Amino acid sequence: MGVSAADFIRDLSDVIFPPSCVHCRALVEPSGAEERPAFRHVCQRCVSQLEFVRPPHCTTCGHPFYGVVEGGRMCVKCEGLDPAFREGRTAVLFKGAARSLVIELKYHRGLHVLEDMTEIFRRVPELIAHVRGATLVPVPLHPRKARERGYNQALLLAQALAAAAGEGARVEPLLRRVVDTQTQTAFDRRTRMANLKNAFALVRGADLNPSLHYVLVDDVFTTGSTLNSCARALRRAGAVNLDVVTFGHG
Ligand SMILES: [Zn+2]
Ligand SMILES: [Zn+2]
Repeated sequence: MGVSAADFIRDLSDVIFPPSCVHCRALVEPSGAEERPAFRHVCQRCVSQLEFVRPPHCTTCGHPFYGVVEGGRMCVKCEGLDPAFREGRTAVLFKGAARSLVIELKYHRGLHVLEDMTEIFRRVPELIAHVRGATLVPVPLHPRKARERGYNQALLLAQALAAAAGEGARVEPLLRRVVDTQTQTAFDRRTRMANLKNAFALVRGADLNPSLHYVLVDDVFTTGSTLNSCARALRRAGAVNLDVVTFGHG
């Protein structure tokens, strides 16, 4: 088997700077003598503790149901959300190494961890099957925030998800954030919620095709209110077939 120059340089740099686990800081060792580890920034022990989401789960936020599923398919936390999207799915629970990966990506400019996040998406076949052929729409950052951070982690995660899905999923940043919700902490909750309702709009010149499958992508599902505002904006613009995917659920 041939080794590409990029792989060779990567292996060489692993020898000089052995990768450490983003969660516990332990050295990330290859699983076999010749095998390259599937995860480069999470150790095997922390990988084994990742909680991948398998069905059955809440149809709105993707949180797994443990044991018996009674009655409705929506979890208690999602009641009252009145989702403008059809279904929501998540790859892992937002804890342990999954949480550390998001923090590394979002707050420490750790763009290198995206390869491990792609691998996590890849390990949730139900989620991958769901996004095949879809148009992935990242939750946008306000321009002020985008300038500050230098990148939008939701866009990078949408690209990671498209890479994990292989052919047939494409990323289109169709939304923009018109209200800077983070500078609004002075307002009370009700005002903030009202502002969030109209916080998103279509990017100029964007055109939605009602026959396409749109999937909103974000890093973490918490209350779902941001994703829901995005979903409303896409619906107003004509999206019919609309779902949500997040990397983690917290
Ligand atoms: Zn670890
Ligand atoms: Zn739920």
